[in-house]
Amino acid sequence: MATTMTDFDVEAERIFRAEIQQFLVEHPVDLFPTMHGDLGYGFGAWSTPFLRAAGKQGWIGLLWPAELGGSDLPPRALWTLLSELAYGRAPAEALFYSLAVGQCIVNYGSPELQQQLLPPLLAGEITFAEALSEPDAGSDLFSLRTSAREQGNSFIIQGQKMWTSNGATADYAMIVARTSLQQPGHRGISTFIVDLRDLRVERRPLLDANGEPSFSEIFFNDLEVPASWLLGQREGAIAQVLDALAWDRFWARSTKAPFLRRELEDLCMVSRSPLPSGEVLWDHEWVRLAVAEMATDIEVCDALCEETLPLYDSGRDTSAAFAAVKVFSDELGQRFYQLALEVLGLRAELPADAHSSFTDRVWLYAMAAHGVRIAGGTPEMQQSTMATRGLGLKASA
Ligand SMILES: Cc1cc2nc3c(=O)[nH]c(=O)nc-3n(C[C@H](O)[C@H](O)[C@H](O)COP(=O)(O)OP(=O)(O)OC[C@H]3O[C@@H](n4cnc5c(N)ncnc54)[C@H](O)[C@@H]3O)c2cc1C
Repeated sequence: MATTMTDFDVEAERIFRAEIQQFLVEHPVDLFPTMHGDLGYGFGAWSTPFLRAAGKQGWIGLLWPAELGGSDLPPRALWTLLSELAYGRAPAEALFYSLAVGQCIVNYGSPELQQQLLPPLLAGEITFAEALSEPDAGSDLFSLRTSAREQGNSFIIQGQKMWTSNGATADYAMIVARTSLQQPGHRGISTFIVDLRDLRVERRPLLDANGEPSFSEIFFNDLEVPASWLLGQREGAIAQVLDALAWDRFWARSTKAPFLRRELEDLCMVSRSPLPSGEVLWDHEWVRLAVAEMATDIEVCDALCEETLPLYDSGRDTSAAFAAVKVFSDELGQRFYQLALEVLGLRAELPADAHSSFTDRVWLYAMAAHGVRIAGGTPEMQQSTMATRGLGLKASA
């Protein structure tokens, strides 16, 4: 980052916003090659060239300590970056995963692991996935069966992961595996970084409802991992899992409002263009009312995320607040594309035109929005967290 900021005040934020906007003007987002498409989360498509460009800008380690190569800035700096990239439709999905897993390496990595992976990570030269879920361990993650057996100065990983986003594309993954059969649930589980390019890792891409190979199955066939690639305490995976999920639920959803704000501009533009018959969709009162309601909800979503931002890094329990952010933003995404489909349904008679890319996107994102709600934890599980951790209600037996 060209700007130097020790204290990220209003003026520093203004300068940083201008810097990001200028970058996006000088580097049009459509020119970055992508490995698979944008699924409408808000953080764009997977692009390693964009990740490298972000590395050159110094955008990857904004919150990390200077001694580890970061910029030591407060969370507001990351908020600023992510909202500008989302509004600019930057292909930042790989950046998201580097930030999420990178934060765990910063917080819990051994000095050896940090020395090996942080420099290329900060340069945007390596990519990451989070391989937590298994065929019979999703909501109930801690029933997982992948094992990590200690052998000398290594661990041997055996088992299968499921639904790993970008699992076929990423270089490395953060995984959780059982290191103790004696201790039940999360008490027997540890977290590791693994190299997915190893020959003892088999990756099978899975097609999602849109036909995109956005996630995959991963098989570990006695993969040897150095003991120094264990994150945090052995059998202490709960700390990294909570951090990773907090990231998914807060930061990955904080992009939804700026992303949808931009989508709403396109929806309005399409609605205002006359149909061949001369009819203008915008002239329908229901369209204007529904768009106004959606515009309000997008701002409510942004305000909810902004209100929640100070909780990040506060040391307080964030689970209920981040669950609320996730449920609200995911449902908003689903409602937005539902509305767009209703509005565009009226213009089905039109041939492909200058706006056809928006109409294509709407179908894609409307389909993907169902999966977005499940990724990172289902709405039922989030509601349960809000009830128990947020409202103090007792979980039913
Ligand atoms: C698009 C997408 C991307 C994903 N990316 C990743 C990834 O990168 N890495 C990764 O590790 N995983 C990923 N996942 C997996 C995701 O985390 C799981 O799908 C999710 O946690 C749900 O687990 P499950 O599929 O096993 O469903 P289950 O846990 O079997 O749930 C099935 C249904 O039962 C309900 N249910 C389950 N338990 C309860 C309960 N106690 N109370 C109330 N209702 C309950 C659920 O809400 C759901 O409706 C992804 C999933 C999707 C759809």
